[in-house]
Amino acid sequence: MALPSHAQIVVIGGGIIGCSTAYHLARDHKADVILLEQGKLTSGSTWHAAGLVGQLRSSASITRVLKYSVELYKGLEAETGLATGWKMTGCLRLATNQDRWTEYKRLATTAKSFGMDMQLVSPEEVKRMWPLMDTSDLVGASWLPTDGQASPSDITQSLAKGARMHGAKLFENVRVTGFEMKDGRILKVKTDQGDVSCDKVVNCAGQWARQVGAMAGINVPLQPVKHQYIITEKLPGLATDAPTLRDPDRRTYFKEEVGGLVMGGYEPNPQGWTTGDVPNDWEFRLFDDDFDHFEQHMMQAIERVPGLADVGVKQMINGPESFTPDGNFILGAAPECSNMFVGAGFNAFGIASGGGAGWVLAQWVVDGEAPLDLWVVDIRRFSGLHRDRQWVSDRTLEAYGKHYTIGYPHEEYASGRPYIVSPLYERLKAHRAVFGSKLGWERPNWFAPEGMEPKDVYAMGRQNWFGPVGDEHRHVREAVGVFDQSSFAKYEMTGKDAQRALDFICANDVSKPTGRLTYTQLLNTRGGIEADLTVARLADDKFYIVTGTGFRTHDLAWISDHIPTGWDAKLVDVTEQFGTLSLMGPNARKVLEAVTSADVSNAAFPFGHVREITIAGATVRALRVTYVGELGWELHVPIEATGEVFDALMAAGAAHDIRPIGYRALESLRLEKGYRAWGSDITPNDTPFEAGLGWAVKLKKETDFLGRKALEKLGDAPLTKQLACFTVDDKEVVLVGRETILRDGQPVGYLTSGGYGYTVGKNIGFGYVRNAGGVDDAFLTKGSYELVVAMERVPAKIHLEPLFDPAATRVKA
Ligand SMILES: Cc1cc2nc3c(=O)[nH]c(=O)nc-3n(C[C@H](O)[C@H](O)[C@H](O)COP(=O)(O)OP(=O)(O)OC[C@H]3O[C@@H](n4cnc5c(N)ncnc54)[C@H](O)[C@@H]3O)c2cc1C
Repeated sequence: MALPSHAQIVVIGGGIIGCSTAYHLARDHKADVILLEQGKLTSGSTWHAAGLVGQLRSSASITRVLKYSVELYKGLEAETGLATGWKMTGCLRLATNQDRWTEYKRLATTAKSFGMDMQLVSPEEVKRMWPLMDTSDLVGASWLPTDGQASPSDITQSLAKGARMHGAKLFENVRVTGFEMKDGRILKVKTDQGDVSCDKVVNCAGQWARQVGAMAGINVPLQPVKHQYIITEKLPGLATDAPTLRDPDRRTYFKEEVGGLVMGGYEPNPQGWTTGDVPNDWEFRLFDDDFDHFEQHMMQAIERVPGLADVGVKQMINGPESFTPDGNFILGAAPECSNMFVGAGFNAFGIASGGGAGWVLAQWVVDGEAPLDLWVVDIRRFSGLHRDRQWVSDRTLEAYGKHYTIGYPHEEYASGRPYIVSPLYERLKAHRAVFGSKLGWERPNWFAPEGMEPKDVYAMGRQNWFGPVGDEHRHVREAVGVFDQSSFAKYEMTGKDAQRALDFICANDVSKPTGRLTYTQLLNTRGGIEADLTVARLADDKFYIVTGTGFRTHDLAWISDHIPTGWDAKLVDVTEQFGTLSLMGPNARKVLEAVTSADVSNAAFPFGHVREITIAGATVRALRVTYVGELGWELHVPIEATGEVFDALMAAGAAHDIRPIGYRALESLRLEKGYRAWGSDITPNDTPFEAGLGWAVKLKKETDFLGRKALEKLGDAPLTKQLACFTVDDKEVVLVGRETILRDGQPVGYLTSGGYGYTVGKNIGFGYVRNAGGVDDAFLTKGSYELVVAMERVPAKIHLEPLFDPAATRVKA
């Protein structure tokens, strides 16, 4: 078959991800699609995968993607005639200590929240299910009956056949060597067999995805890591339907294979491969066996399955797999190139993800927007920092090493830090700040009082910072605090069509006079919330846009992508030009008055306004907004003056009891005030109406805007879900998110955020209550509620208004 000179879509890579994507593009979208593979299909990482297929993740959407894989694998043979080796054996995860057990109780609750049946079983039950195991050290295990295992090569060949049956053309031994580009778009894919012009390219090149992306100027931050497992001779007594087994406290996993065991693990001292380019001639290749390195797993595995000591090792597999700095895979539209999409970096769960990842990626490629909330895997979660290969490698190896460690809430990574620091870093350190890191920025999470080591001590229950954060919280409610939010992403949009463009991109009305602020959502074509940010009008043709640290690349690209062609509206990222100090609390005005000659009275500087004021000789953009529900200003300071402005605030604020405050207090304050967080409470899966943000949508105006049609289509139909606030009085309870919401004893949703409100003295959670027959305030308030927290039912109260509204009570002016 000759390579065509044109194809609508070119998929690069014939591993499980490329084949699944081509299959779905052809089957679901009837796309004119070709797949190019430099060697033979499966010859990269896919052929040597162990084939365990697990489904549960901490994101509901990703769990849905993985569940889809299982559904697909079950039925694929019937469609293509090629078996996939799928066996629904179920999966046991073992717990040998109480923290792990708590983790499983939370996981089992998450599973139920996501509609999966995970149970916890006793050591005796484990022994019955897997008799060859030593269970003497077990607290118990989690049991997910619908997990299983499959043959990676067979599934991939079956997907490839299915793709061909639906009209895709797959080419082996064709290497992509570069791209012909114009204005940030790929015009042609260059190969060693000739060029192919195309509309879109999907980069599914596995561990080569980084260098294939680089040929088009895009960054795919993954790191190949050596991963080993063994296949043993037959183990007497091992059932062919034995559940797959994960023993995270011993860092190992097991799977039955032709009467023997596949056994591998995640060591704390992983071996990264190259941080340079991966050789192209790596077809069906492995690294040399490394028994010295593997010995740590062997010892642990023999203690778990003593019979292993008596059987021989048939084969060792030591292969490269792409891992990423946060353990999530990489999907979606590359921000640097308008027609390249990526599906790579599968962190040793590419077989489990393959079916579903191909399904959502194909839809994404065709529509140009993610079909569901795929934020945790979105390539736009990365930034310039992720071009630093050494940093990516260090962080990725740390994430690999943590694959099986207990996941404590609020845990921070340690590697590659500090990377980006605000000008206040040393000052905040002197105030005993304990930092976290977000998109490379060091940010103060909390401040340790004298006599306490400035360091997180993780635990499953309340952690060591709980008390000090409470003090910070109260300080903001009662006096005044200053938050270093310099890591905020900031953009400027200028041009004679800037207002028109923002009016089209934003759901709220930004066409207010100069000096006004607008809090707005950006919606996708389904009416789902793609971003949540503040727009300040600085001049007729100039806007300043502020959004969350982590959303920097995503929001910038979303806005840029949607500026209509030919309009005079230029968007630039100015994040590093401004430090941001948020001065918040009832005494905020007193402090501000003391450092500026500008009139900051309520009459001269009301809520929702932006003014340029002078502090310590610097011209500061002051935005009268709040995320904590107190009187306050976000002060956007020229970066070089941030230190002096901070010092001026602290000096003048001494009389008003000012102190620096961290991000954990911020979270608690915003929960009480009912402010939603994008990525958890509000996502592309949720409309503003469902989120209780309908007031911020300009449907009453004539202006067309993104998402308008979808919202209009919803019309007056009742909502089928609505965000609500819940409180739990019991102080012993710890909410971490994803707890199941029970209404009159029936599951109706789960928490999207969970935390503690120190002013109200209660645990607080947000979550959507769902009901196919309609949800409104009356429906919500009529029910009686409980939350399932780590498998325990606890009484909860629902609230439709913010729990704490100082503006209504105290801060009148
Ligand atoms: C030892 C080991 C055990 C594993 N066990 C499991 C498991 O139990 N469960 C699980 O879910 N996952 C497991 N995995 C992970 C799984 O193998 C991968 O996540 C998955 O195979 C990735 O598929 P892919 O399509 O992204 O990459 P690949 O299979 O590597 O496919 C990428 C393809 O792109 C081709 N390509 C690259 N550059 C070019 C170019 N320039 N032109 C044309 N083609 C190109 C390559 O030749 C390659 O075939 C394991 C991995 C390893 C290493």
